[in-house]
Amino acid sequence: MKFDILTLFPKMFFSPFEESILARGIEKGLIEIRTINIRNFAQDKHQVVDDTPYGGGQGMVMKVEPIARAIEQVRAEDPSAWTIYLTPEGKPLNQERVKELSSRSHLILLCGRYEGVDERVRELFIDEEISIGDYVLTGGELAAMVLIDAVSRLVPGVLGSDRSAENDSFYDDLLEYPQYTRPANFRGYEVPSVLLSGNHQAISLWRRREALRRTYLRRPDLLSKATLSEEDKQILEEIAKKNR
Ligand code: SAM
Repeated sequence: MKFDILTLFPKMFFSPFEESILARGIEKGLIEIRTINIRNFAQDKHQVVDDTPYGGGQGMVMKVEPIARAIEQVRAEDPSAWTIYLTPEGKPLNQERVKELSSRSHLILLCGRYEGVDERVRELFIDEEISIGDYVLTGGELAAMVLIDAVSRLVPGVLGSDRSAENDSFYDDLLEYPQYTRPANFRGYEVPSVLLSGNHQAISLWRRREALRRTYLRRPDLLSKATLSEEDKQILEEIAKKNR
């Protein structure tokens, strides 16, 4: 999976991908992350990338030409690259969208700054607009990092053979069950005994029940999308009764 990040601040990306799982994914050649400085595509003497908005108003707007040239250069290398503009006006990023994006081989991520980009960039060059939440960041760089992190961990091999994303929250529209590790007793707070029982069937039933309970209590909105068995529905009824 290849990511090309179009940004005015490439240095912001240096350390986040030098640690842990993503660094190993890069080392193994499963992920490739390249930063492209939009400023290098400004052709005037001062390499100007922004200008005042037509019609007046506060702030600056990122100019269309440098961004257009940067995107065109990447697309000339790979016409199948999918171009995303990170913006608070985009579709909210969720695990379903992350899964879909992980099936693509090449993403171009455009990070805005200031008041955002000239509208013609969006009309002419962007395949999709994505928001990471209903709040406004100073730039698209952190949003691009979030997207890269979430998508990369679904690229086969990135999490390692012993770890799968299938039990994580949202994978099947449920939150994850509670996790514990040693010690079994911390200041009198004990790990649920079923987890120490070695009974794998009982453990998986307990985990399913806890995932359903947690989702019911914290994110009931997810349950309408989740694929639920008859047994799940029965468990949910019991949970609902107890919490009335
Ligand atoms: N004036 C813009 C508006 O009201 O929609 C906000 C511009 S914001 C200060 C600068 C840049 O940060 C945006 O162009 C976008 O790339 C990025 N950004 C800000 N919030 C974001 C969010 N929630 N999700 C994704 N990108 C965001």
